[in-house]
Amino acid sequence: MKKLRQKNIHNLLKETEDRFRKINIALPRLDAEVLLSFYLKKNRSTLYTNSEYIPTDKEMREYGNGVARRLRGEPVAYITGKKEFWSLDLEINDKVLIPRPETEILVEQVLKLVKKWKLINGRILEIGTGSGAISIALASELERARFFAMDISIDAVKIAKRNAGRNGVEKLVSFVCGNLFEPFSEKFDFIISNPPYISEKEFQYLPVEVRNFEPEEALLAGPKGIEFHRELVKKGADYLKKKGWLVMEIGYGQSHAVERMLKETQKYDLIRFRTDYAGIKRVVEAQRSG
Ligand code: SAM
Ligand code: GLN
Repeated sequence: MKKLRQKNIHNLLKETEDRFRKINIALPRLDAEVLLSFYLKKNRSTLYTNSEYIPTDKEMREYGNGVARRLRGEPVAYITGKKEFWSLDLEINDKVLIPRPETEILVEQVLKLVKKWKLINGRILEIGTGSGAISIALASELERARFFAMDISIDAVKIAKRNAGRNGVEKLVSFVCGNLFEPFSEKFDFIISNPPYISEKEFQYLPVEVRNFEPEEALLAGPKGIEFHRELVKKGADYLKKKGWLVMEIGYGQSHAVERMLKETQKYDLIRFRTDYAGIKRVVEAQRSG
């Protein structure tokens, strides 16, 4: 790789942005800014107020390494080891999915249901918590609720626990390692999940930065993509209190199949979808019949 010459922040960002754009990185300017501010230990706005600053040799070397990793396809969040979700800082590594902005819609939807149905003291079970993003975001808003967040990956559970601690909600969330509902015997007011929902066919078409860097077990569901939703719908009915809510994130084009499977059980009412910023049905909610 051509070495980045020593330059001031303004020119350095310009050069990095151009390199990123050449290999079709979706947000070249943003990625350059996030990386440079990370290695300079400054926030992004300071890059503009200090645009004449020339980084030291050490800063340049570290930034150069980060840029090289990004050029090989690694997502920025794995390079910096952090990601913002619901305005909270989360620690991230390659054992967990990088929380996606559209998953905040699931958080919003649960908050709306809590308010509308007065479930402020509710017991909330999250299946497949990964970095802990969803439960930690909700716990930061609902200090009287009680959270149980689980994942099959012990590495994910460890990171999620640290993230709860760093965001001051460790007393509200219990983390458990296991397979789906297996660790639980009691019933909940909410079962929430952003499960793996990529089909085997879709998996091969995922962008390199997702397919080659994010954990396969966080993404790949099975031949159809809705295998986890089926488990959550079927078994979830036994773990929900009457009038409790199942809230799940779904993938592009999965709403019809998910609606059908919910109706087939005859155990859910009030099935509704929420669309994301791109107009895709992204979150489904359903109430356990009374
Ligand atoms: N909740 C996080 C988020 O929204 O950013 C992570 C979601 S990721 C799409 C799905 C998660 O489900 C992964 O962390 C994965 O390890 C976990 N998972 C996969 N199979 C599981 C299973 N059988 N039981 C529990 N968790 C599972
Ligand atoms: N939204 C993720 C993607 O961009 C998929 C997450 C999931 O499978 N739950 O690929």
